[in-house]
Amino acid sequence: MGAELRDSHGRVMRDLRVSITDRCNFRCLYCLPETEEAANFYRTRFDALRNPKPPAPVPIHREWKPRSELLSYEEITRIVQVAAALGIQKVRITGGEPLLRQGVDGLVSSIARIPGIQDLALTTNGALFADKAQALRQAGLQRVSFSMDSLDPANFRRMTGRDGLASVLSGIRLARDLGFDPVKVNAVVIRGMNDHEVPELARFARQERLSLRFIEFMPLDSSRSWQKELVVPGREILERLRQSFTLSPVDASTNPSETARRWTVDGGPGEIGIIAPVSEPFCGHCNRLRITADGKLRTCLFSLEEHDLRPLLRGGGADDDIARLLIEKVAGKEAGHRIGQADFQQPARTMSCIGG
Ligand code: SAM
Ligand code: SF4
Repeated sequence: MGAELRDSHGRVMRDLRVSITDRCNFRCLYCLPETEEAANFYRTRFDALRNPKPPAPVPIHREWKPRSELLSYEEITRIVQVAAALGIQKVRITGGEPLLRQGVDGLVSSIARIPGIQDLALTTNGALFADKAQALRQAGLQRVSFSMDSLDPANFRRMTGRDGLASVLSGIRLARDLGFDPVKVNAVVIRGMNDHEVPELARFARQERLSLRFIEFMPLDSSRSWQKELVVPGREILERLRQSFTLSPVDASTNPSETARRWTVDGGPGEIGIIAPVSEPFCGHCNRLRITADGKLRTCLFSLEEHDLRPLLRGGGADDDIARLLIEKVAGKEAGHRIGQADFQQPARTMSCIGG
């Protein structure tokens, strides 16, 4: 067998997430809030319980990477080719909002042709999906995941900073009609913001034959407003769902690296999943790597260190040099995140830059 991406804990990397832009047309509170007021909304609420003095506002500081620093599609394709030769089988294109970048279908068709890539997916907020859906499908995109945290237009706006619910809903239905399978919908659950919508979101998954995953809020927001009180633990989400529905577990034994535990709702069709990285970490089975839009390799969502691939890509490095760097850095992959530990440090970059 050839070289592979094996870390010092025995995990072998199969899944590569590639961010193609750090920009976004949404301003989700838990990722990239638009205003200080939005950024401080939940901080103020929960601090008020402990400390009647209002906290100092967090200044919004946002800088997009200049175009010249972003990897070109040719550079991304080259990295994926090298990674595929080292055993990467799944690729997810993400961002920021990946559909803000022109010509994503061209990138999809290049990656889809790489030998060894068995699964090619995209994560999007859905606002621009309808216009690009057909081209993406024809280019070879197999799966698409949408982010949708609320079915209530006003709450959707509060959480994303945009009036986008109607276009996201039509994007989701179009994806299903075009044959993307499964169509996944991700909902980040935040206490006091959208946790009351959990049953309605599960009902929607059943009615629309979707795979809807509830995700715990992670400390990766640009305003650093994350507090553990705001996390609705996966088991609490499950208890709430059990009050309204009959949930039957979906067997995941074929894929131990699956991040979601899944159930059918009232016999299906459609299913719900719970992704609980904070309360029930799944780091022991992690087989994922990430490349940021500006060409940095990250071995964990919560890595404090990044490894720059651009000097090799732009300085005449050979494919073997890129392969060596991947092998060497994967060997040092972190055992797991340290959320909740006394020494936890939030990474400098946010989810919108790292690529979810
Ligand atoms: N813009 C696209 C979207 O929203 O689907 C792709 C990028 S977004 C960073 C990828 C995923 O990360 C989304 O499903 C989003 O809900 C999730 N995400 C962002 N910030 C998060 C946080 N602080 N905790 C948990 N999930 C988060
Ligand atoms: Fe944009 Fe996605 Fe972050 Fe929302 S979660 S601000 S849509 S990158």
